[in-house]
Amino acid sequence: MILNRYVVLLGILMHFIFCVFLSARGYHPVNGIFLGSSVVLVVIFILTYFIPRSDVIVAMLGITTFTVCFLAGPDLGWIVSGYGFMYITLMLVWYDSSKSVLVKIIESAVVTASVCFLFVFRGAMLDIRLSHADYVVMLTVNTVALCLTICVVAYFLCRDNVTDERKLMQYNAKLKEMAGVDPLTGLMNRRAIGEKFEALLQEDNQCITVAMGDIDFFKKVNDTRGHDCGDYVLKTLSMKFQNFMKERGYVSRWGGEEFVFIFQNYNGDDTYPLLEDLRHDIENMEFEFFSHKFHITMTFGVEEYSPMFGSEEAIKKADEKLYIGKESGRNRVVY
Ligand code: GH3
Ligand code: MG
Ligand code: MG
Repeated sequence: MILNRYVVLLGILMHFIFCVFLSARGYHPVNGIFLGSSVVLVVIFILTYFIPRSDVIVAMLGITTFTVCFLAGPDLGWIVSGYGFMYITLMLVWYDSSKSVLVKIIESAVVTASVCFLFVFRGAMLDIRLSHADYVVMLTVNTVALCLTICVVAYFLCRDNVTDERKLMQYNAKLKEMAGVDPLTGLMNRRAIGEKFEALLQEDNQCITVAMGDIDFFKKVNDTRGHDCGDYVLKTLSMKFQNFMKERGYVSRWGGEEFVFIFQNYNGDDTYPLLEDLRHDIENMEFEFFSHKFHITMTFGVEEYSPMFGSEEAIKKADEKLYIGKESGRNRVVY
């Protein structure tokens, strides 16, 4: 409806300018046609606030344009009399999303037939009264008004499309982000870290080291203190890992109580002492859940990435070392 209002407003402006111009240049009684059409268009503009039906407003607009062309055509020529605005009616018919395609086709056929009718029965009988200079002035005003109206209609069409497209892109980005995030801990999930690893390999990194960490006897935490307590441990550790990996690389929840760390531009020798410190920190952390205090430990396996094997193999090797750590007593970093 806002679009219709703008179109009607532009129509009022053009018809009023024509009325004033034709009156000033002494073209009677054709000036009266534009006075009448200006009044009718003002009424249509007011009606847009009371009739919330775009199709009715567009129909009134089309009928007004047709009538003006029909009456003023023989005097002014059919171009100057504003037949071009019949095409605007056509655009407005197709802009209306509440109509079916069949209705739009029928309405378009009516508009097209009206334009043909004007041309055959009014345009052919031309006896233009305008002087050459006046004709040029009116044609210019008409053309500017027509171009402006097309721009307004096109703007509204594009604006809606662009907004929808932008919303869709934001929605897709959000979905993609959600698909890569573990809902409990907020860390990247297995899929996301796999993609991140591959992306890092495309960059100019000097070296990459992978670590796999697993909470020791985590099942016991669940069994003795409840699943919620287990979740609390996972969330607390995840926050710690996120801080720990800041500026160093990425961390993800690989699954259950297992985490994969990717150290960017760190070799195995650099990474080992860092993880030893982390392991030590975790060992000394005091967890408290509903006034129950307890400690946990973690075991890590570390593997420096080698282009000979690839990312999946690096993670697998880190996992194998983690297994060795578990076998040899837990709470250690195996490199
Ligand atoms: P190990 O030292 O050999 O790693 O022993 P573990 O008990 O940690 O390992 P195990 O694989 O036997 O048990 C892992 C447990 O992790 C079992 C499962 O219930 C628990 N777990 C996995 N995902 C979640 C989760 O999202 N929340 C909670 N609370 N527990 C989880
Ligand atoms: Mg475990
Ligand atoms: Mg495990």
